[in-house]
Amino acid sequence: MKALPRILALTQFTAADLQTLLSLGEPAELRQLYEAAYAVKVRHAGRVVHLRGLCEISNICRRDCLYCGIRRSNAAPARYVMTDSEVLAAARWAWQAGLGSVALQSGERADPGFIDTIERILVGIRDLSHGQLGVTLSLGEQDEQTYLRWREAGAHRYLLRLETSDPDLYAAVHPDGWALAGRLACLASLRRCGYQVGTGVLIGLPGQSAADLARDVLFMRDLDVDMVGMGPFIPCAGTPLADSLGDFTIRRAQQLELGLKMIACVRLAMPDINIVAATALQALAADGWQRGLRAGANILMPNLTDPRYGREYRLYDGKPCSGPTCQQSCDSVMAAVEAAGERVGLRERGDSPRWRRRRG
Ligand code: SAH
Repeated sequence: MKALPRILALTQFTAADLQTLLSLGEPAELRQLYEAAYAVKVRHAGRVVHLRGLCEISNICRRDCLYCGIRRSNAAPARYVMTDSEVLAAARWAWQAGLGSVALQSGERADPGFIDTIERILVGIRDLSHGQLGVTLSLGEQDEQTYLRWREAGAHRYLLRLETSDPDLYAAVHPDGWALAGRLACLASLRRCGYQVGTGVLIGLPGQSAADLARDVLFMRDLDVDMVGMGPFIPCAGTPLADSLGDFTIRRAQQLELGLKMIACVRLAMPDINIVAATALQALAADGWQRGLRAGANILMPNLTDPRYGREYRLYDGKPCSGPTCQQSCDSVMAAVEAAGERVGLRERGDSPRWRRRRG
């Protein structure tokens, strides 16, 4: 096994190197890891954080992922769909506040009505921002024709998490018959359609080892994505995995630490991509976002969803709710940026440096 300073100085990592980093537990060693990743972030992306105002359009979902609070068979959430004008009002707010980009996320639907709605909303966002506001979609698996329609209507980034690169673990947490291969085919489609492509994994699923996560990092590197959005798994009441980590009060700190270590590893292995400090980090600690930024992330997503809806978009227990106003959601994100000693890139889209380089 290589000594820590030697691993941190590498530019090419083996699974064994990453596994060593993901297994660190000593505070002094963790500090070295985060500082090394932060230095790489600063070199490639500067001391600036870009924002994606998040709009959780609907919690209706055709899938039944074992970990997720809005899974089809969970009767707890009151199902909702935001109206076009509610989504456009949030986008207009983001545009006027200088956020640079919005992200539209939803439970998974692929019916023609939904596809049309998204297309209409995208055209509306393009009109209200004169084509300036960046738009990331996170709307799950769709056919290539749909991805293309949405791309032509103005979306230019798409985040589709792999959840895990291990086909057996993928099948274990998605017993509804969907397979990892389908998700990978979607990522290839998105690339063909000209999106900036993002992926990510769930960190700390039951049965997932440091070796699995190390392979996830290499898998994402080999996919050569432009952005990564990933976060720690947090159990959700009413789902089959609700009690899968035992007493969660004991696991909280560990899940947070694993999430931060993954951010640092991804930053070291993929220096010039955009990395989100996920809301799940902030759900685990009051300074979760700030620590994510200091471990190598450079993107934050203030939640602009009206809390009446946001409450029902409960992917996991303790998910921080937005608001009560867009401004207040933004203020808490801004506070994290300031506490991390960084600044917000207002009125900038903040496209992935990797993407800009790819396009030449
Ligand atoms: N339907 C879209 C968006 C899904 S929700 C899609 O399929 O891409 C966004 C992400 O929330 C998921 O990709 C998943 O990684 C994450 N998530 C779901 N349940 C979670 C949990 N219990 N803990 C942490 N993250 C969770």
